[in-house]
Amino acid sequence: MSENITIPPTQYADYPALMPPAELAAMQRYARRDPDGFWLQQAKRVHWHRKPKHGFTGSFTGDVSISWFEDGLINASVCCIDKHLTDKADQVALISHREDRAEAEKITYAMLHERVCRLSNALVHLGVEEGHRVAICLPMISEAVVAMLACARIGAVHVVLFGGFSAEGIAERIIDSGAVAVITASESMRGNKIVPFKAIMDEALCKAGAESGVRSVLVVRTSDAPVPMLPGRDYDFHDFVDSFEADFVPVVMRAEAPLFMLYTSGSTGKPKAVVHATGGYMVWAAYTMGMVYHHQPGDVLWCTADVAWITGHTSVVYGLLANGGTTMISDSLPSYPAPGRWLDLVDEHKVTMLFTAPTAVRAMMADGDDVVNARNLESLRLLGVAGEPISPDAWLWYHDVVGKKRCPVVDTWWQTETAGIVLGPVPGVQPLKPGSASTPLPGLEMVIADTQGRPVQGPAEGSLCIARSWPGQARTIWKDHARFCQTYFGMVPGHYFTGDGARRDADGYYWITGRMDDVINIAGHRLGTAEVEDALAADHRIVESAAVGIPHPVKGQALAVFVIQRQNVATELTEKGISRLISGMLGRYATPEAVYLVPDLPRTRSGKIVRRLLRKIASGEVDNLGDLSSLNDPSIVRMLCDRVWSHM
Ligand code: ATP
Ligand code: MG
Repeated sequence: MSENITIPPTQYADYPALMPPAELAAMQRYARRDPDGFWLQQAKRVHWHRKPKHGFTGSFTGDVSISWFEDGLINASVCCIDKHLTDKADQVALISHREDRAEAEKITYAMLHERVCRLSNALVHLGVEEGHRVAICLPMISEAVVAMLACARIGAVHVVLFGGFSAEGIAERIIDSGAVAVITASESMRGNKIVPFKAIMDEALCKAGAESGVRSVLVVRTSDAPVPMLPGRDYDFHDFVDSFEADFVPVVMRAEAPLFMLYTSGSTGKPKAVVHATGGYMVWAAYTMGMVYHHQPGDVLWCTADVAWITGHTSVVYGLLANGGTTMISDSLPSYPAPGRWLDLVDEHKVTMLFTAPTAVRAMMADGDDVVNARNLESLRLLGVAGEPISPDAWLWYHDVVGKKRCPVVDTWWQTETAGIVLGPVPGVQPLKPGSASTPLPGLEMVIADTQGRPVQGPAEGSLCIARSWPGQARTIWKDHARFCQTYFGMVPGHYFTGDGARRDADGYYWITGRMDDVINIAGHRLGTAEVEDALAADHRIVESAAVGIPHPVKGQALAVFVIQRQNVATELTEKGISRLISGMLGRYATPEAVYLVPDLPRTRSGKIVRRLLRKIASGEVDNLGDLSSLNDPSIVRMLCDRVWSHM
């Protein structure tokens, strides 16, 4: 099957490879032989106020402690801005495309410096101090990037909250994080819908009441619509900030000082805020982005992720800017006002590296090849995905139709906790296998553990773990170190447990099989959700599917699948047909107990399918659906319950 497809780097002869394969292999060996030496060398990628002499200190056992470059002194905004002012002051650092503006905003490194400094002065004036938390809840506009970097400059810890959260979701996170200030917008357009950012924030702060420590709210006015402002607390962002001085001496931070905390996507349960430390994160962000999204002069990277996710933090902001690239952000939707909108923006801004989520690839695929073929797309030279497993079929479509077989596709596996790419190919250097997140970057020691938590060698399938710390590793869960130790280090002693399952093939390539919590065990046969979903993705009539396990009196568990069918196909699929498709490809034991044809699936705000909810709905356990704050559209739950009940 797809595992046999291997695309050699020679397919991309025009792609400027980062290094010869032998050099990559040498890097791998060096990192294994002398991890501290390796990482101290990588630390040279960023600017230090005092260079570190120590690599890692700490332990993955007991009361886990993780510390990197502990004698180093650093400021993340200096790494991203000041470092480039001597040679790149006039290079565009950030392109901000807003659908309500005719012209995109192009911000050079010099302009970015000025804006970040003004906001730094304003925040300090408002009493924000080193170590204070600042909540940033903004649409994808340039102020979001400026706000993150200004917090970094003054040593405050940013907590970026997704703009689409409900007031409850924001209130919960504002209380939990103990934010003292908020940076938000008046409103934003999502397609033809207005998202009233300020009104939602007001409601959230009201709900948080005395539990909120927020003293100031800066509001970016994004339109002429009137916004209620609370005197003494609320400030018009530009009226207030633009009068401050355009220079600010960065606060020199210890490497281990927290740079930001970030809530995970909430796919598997109650969202948790993981804490990232400045020095290690910056080295890691620069390293991982440098290895996989190695940019050349003139490159424009558009990572379509919201800055509220880890991909937004590392790819849009810290990693790319640390490396002196040009990053693009946009508040556009992929198919509004018409399918192909994102591809138009690729042409308009000559995007060279496009990085998106598998769900966006599946949606583009459903729109059809004609939409893609009607665009030029010649500027593209690298395509990327992250966030969910991508089926080999969707991978090949992205590669062949969007990338015209010219652009390597990098499928990168990472987590909020890993803060940067862990599994991913170095494009142009390593062969690519559609559907596989390739191999670990040098410096990462991946382990597959069996059901008893014992590491297994060679080709194997099991829990994906990491044997040794890496600089960008989350240091703790905010206010809950015990949960941190238990969630990530309780499973395989002395190892970081990712929560995901994976298979390692004979070439050492990794194939993510899904979340370990979601593994389906049918009469002793273990089945990863991705295996079922990949099998279904091979049928062109299926846009997307989600597999879950439900209790079964005899087999222990049985398979239930939810399927979104493509519109207007000649022969529609039936539930029986889907059943046959699965048993034909995976074996009789995998024959589903139930198949539901549905118009949509529950997703997190970052676009991931929430299988935990589907599992409960399919099992009829609808009384206790758990935390729904990270759902994109909670109304979908009702529709799915109705669909399942009508089958019972
Ligand atoms: P929560 O931890 O709150 O349940 P989440 O795990 O979805 O949410 P993130 O940290 O944003 O939050 O996502 C990381 C997860 O996304 C990984 O653990 C993995 O399951 C999935 N993932 C990320 N990249 C890939 C990829 N390239 N292939 C397969 N799965 C991926
Ligand atoms: Mg997770």
